[in-house]
Amino acid sequence: MIFRQLFDHQSSTYTYLISSGKGREALIIDPVIENVKNYINLLKELNLKLVKVIDTHIHADHVTGASKLKNITNCSTIMGEHSPAETVEIKVKDDELINLDNLKIKAMYTPGHTSDSYSFLMNNYLFSGDTLLINGTGRTDFQNGNAKDSYNSIFNKLLKLPEETLLYPAHDYKGEKVSTIGKEKKHNPRLQVSSVDEYIDIMNNLNLKKPVKIESNVSKNIKLGA
Ligand code: FE
Repeated sequence: MIFRQLFDHQSSTYTYLISSGKGREALIIDPVIENVKNYINLLKELNLKLVKVIDTHIHADHVTGASKLKNITNCSTIMGEHSPAETVEIKVKDDELINLDNLKIKAMYTPGHTSDSYSFLMNNYLFSGDTLLINGTGRTDFQNGNAKDSYNSIFNKLLKLPEETLLYPAHDYKGEKVSTIGKEKKHNPRLQVSSVDEYIDIMNNLNLKKPVKIESNVSKNIKLGA
């Protein structure tokens, strides 16, 4: 398997490139439009054919490179079935499997950060989007975000995965690259709550600034960045 974790410094976004092996099919999760050229160069360098691109949700802080990648490589675009993006070609359901040669990637509906948030599980690699972050959880104060849904997605779904599952989030602001479900259960401050109400209270009092350009990013991302 080929696996690359790529970082966008502007938005602190992690983009992931996965492939079964040299000369074979590749998939990209959460591409950033400004970095599409780099992805194309990397695909060439690794001798891979991009066949699928996934957005975990409609992002507010950057514009997706999905459409641009599709125009260049003719790959398929994928999001979860709750996505408001009409031009997405494949809308996957909760528990649905995405094939990439011999690799299988399972879609998991994990709303909360947004109502269209999905996580993706490939073997013991969990791509959690902004649902579960390292030492944090995705804010729930816009795009139909909901703290109770976030709690349910995290506690009743993601944290039920084996403790050794590797956590690869869509963002990190402190230079962390990977964690595990076990580590987050023990050390993630947001997860040390004793009730759903306590979690909701934390999430409703974060007082975060709105992302810059949220309106224009969201409206562009609904068209997959086209
Ligand atoms: Fe997000």
